[in-house]
Amino acid sequence: MKRQTNRTIAISLGLGVCLGLCLSLYLPVSRRRLDPQPVISLRIEDRNGVLLREVLSDEGGRCRWISLRDISPLLLKATIAAEDRYYFSHPGVNPYAVVRAFIQNLKSRRVVSGASTITQQVIRNIYHFRRNIPAKVEEAWLAVRLEHTLTKDEILVQYLNRVSYGNQAFGVEAAARLYFDKPSEDLSLAEAAFLAALPRSPSELNPYRNYAAAAKRQKDVLRRMLDLKFIDQASFERARAEALSLSSIKEKFRAPHFCDYVLENLPAEARRRIAVIRTTLDYGLQEKAEVLLRAHLGVLELKNITNGAVLVLDNRTAEILAMVGSRDFFDEERSGQVNGALSLRQPGSTLKPLTYALALERGMTAATILDDVPTPFATRAGSYMPENYDEKFHGRIRLRSALASSYNVPAVEVLQTLGPDLLYRRLRDLGFANLRGSPGFYGVGLTLGNGEVTLLELVRAYAALARGGIACRERSVLAVIHKGRGKSGAFQESGAERIFSPQAAFIITHILADKDARIPTFGYLSPLNFPFPAAAKTGTSKDFRDNWTVGYTPRHTAGVWVGNFDGMPMQNVSGVSGAGPIFRDIMLLLAAGRSDAFEEPRDIVHARICPLSGELPSPRCPSTIDEVFIRGSEPLARCSLIHAPDQKPPSFLVRGLRPVPNELTIVVPQEGDVYKIDSILRRDFQAIQLKADVPLDTGIRAVEWWINGRSVGAREFPHALSWNLKPGSYTIQARARTDSRKFESRPVRITVLS
Ligand SMILES: [Zn+2]
Repeated sequence: MKRQTNRTIAISLGLGVCLGLCLSLYLPVSRRRLDPQPVISLRIEDRNGVLLREVLSDEGGRCRWISLRDISPLLLKATIAAEDRYYFSHPGVNPYAVVRAFIQNLKSRRVVSGASTITQQVIRNIYHFRRNIPAKVEEAWLAVRLEHTLTKDEILVQYLNRVSYGNQAFGVEAAARLYFDKPSEDLSLAEAAFLAALPRSPSELNPYRNYAAAAKRQKDVLRRMLDLKFIDQASFERARAEALSLSSIKEKFRAPHFCDYVLENLPAEARRRIAVIRTTLDYGLQEKAEVLLRAHLGVLELKNITNGAVLVLDNRTAEILAMVGSRDFFDEERSGQVNGALSLRQPGSTLKPLTYALALERGMTAATILDDVPTPFATRAGSYMPENYDEKFHGRIRLRSALASSYNVPAVEVLQTLGPDLLYRRLRDLGFANLRGSPGFYGVGLTLGNGEVTLLELVRAYAALARGGIACRERSVLAVIHKGRGKSGAFQESGAERIFSPQAAFIITHILADKDARIPTFGYLSPLNFPFPAAAKTGTSKDFRDNWTVGYTPRHTAGVWVGNFDGMPMQNVSGVSGAGPIFRDIMLLLAAGRSDAFEEPRDIVHARICPLSGELPSPRCPSTIDEVFIRGSEPLARCSLIHAPDQKPPSFLVRGLRPVPNELTIVVPQEGDVYKIDSILRRDFQAIQLKADVPLDTGIRAVEWWINGRSVGAREFPHALSWNLKPGSYTIQARARTDSRKFESRPVRITVLS
């Protein structure tokens, strides 16, 4: 008896669920979801009113929601022939196709077969399902419900207004205007079949990349239309023979990376309110920059360089005049849509001028003698010995030559003296927002480019040097015109901020524009030599993946990056042979043959010096040169060198560095640093070099290192002590004493994780 009752309950429950499921198929689909989206139409123009792009639709929005009345019957037939020939007889899903797809999916254990009806495709467009089997089931369930919500004709209207035809064209009206420059109701049979063919696979059938594939599929669609008796033999023959004239996409996507950049910086709701954006771009210049980049990259292919980017700023207004993000925006194979001007890359030597600008502010001069000799630097990763691009060391050199020839040891030596923290903070002030590690994370390698930056950030920083030390946020928009009101408004205020003193910026410019100073590295016929005053700096990342040239005249700042989006290393490329010639052509174009001299700020002193000592010349000096100084830092002493051929170079000089540090300071590690023990590496290899800066002229010989209140050893110059890492928290202090004084550094607290 009881068993009987249980069975009855089970059967009733089962029947109930079945009935519920069947009834649920009659639930209408939410009407709100089926509503047309607000229309978006927005013109982006260059600074002179040249149309760069007309945004007719974007994902979710429509060009113009067209009703059944306005849709060409040819397009309806072509769409049914192409996508779903049983459309008018199935209940939303095609049972035969479902069974076939189900078997195929089971065999391959993944979703392989599309087999979607037009109704299912509408559902997919509204709900954005993932591709898995439960989602497929839900999609089919919703498709049947949609058939009970709308008529067959209404569902077709939904399909034709929503589906993607590739190249950002959503809906058939946007597609007709994009590909054929006409409203969809004027499409010929051949054109209608062509458009109806695309939604099956908008990227593989992209007519601008694979016209042959799209044309072949168009012929298939026409053949099906004939088979289904939608058209007669004569129409079929005529349409097959019709030559299609596809409109040129390049004219509709001018300056594509720049337009994307402008749109990305525009809040979504603003897009709907704005009718026209007048941008800062100079399309005449942009077009020439695109041609130049492509022409040079054609040659650079031999060096395994496939891509590049160019950026030009007007220094006075901080307006972006040109932005080329890749060789070809439409080249999908080489990720052409990636904007190389905004991608993160290692900057190589291009940050050195900023390091030296700081050094000038701190009392060094262009004549300060630096040592370019093999020097190990303690870093997080252990001792590190920078080398030069030419694999040589050059001994005693002036700061001017060290920067112009881009030698590495002096740049690191200078940053070691200044402290990486100072450069780090200045870079952040300049707008290098992607240096997200701590200053200790980058260490002295920051000046050699171990951080990541964008071309836009580099150009922004160099424009600050061109403006005599003042940084501005760059602008991409001149004005916007709102819909309806016809009122225009200015937009994007750019706050100006002084980052470097005008004198330090001027001297760095003077060095970067000095043709003679870079001869040792770049030779006499460098592409960086211009027939007018221009500052330039090159950079190549350590792994040969990125190559840069950035520079400026008083009027313009330009930057060029070349490399590969996929990170493949280049071959035999230096700053001069990669980005250099492109930079040169851009600068010649910008200056149109002439450019003004850089304006000299007040408090700059010109003096004649001995090039070997950087001091005032003595009668013994074999030659003299002119140098520029910030007033008060010019040399006062006469050259005391003997200038004998066998004279030994003195050890590293930081003469001229002011203020002289008068405290004992720990350089490595830095406060708050966290280390992690590597479980694979041998423990005795996992040590850090404790390093301290010792005040000059105090007579300190040895530095004693204390960890958690215990002395772990004393070291004479260079005062570094190797200390094996063990898990725990540590307070580290450096101490030293002379006959008359005691020195104690500030304690530095670090953590070592196991
Ligand atoms: Zn001398």
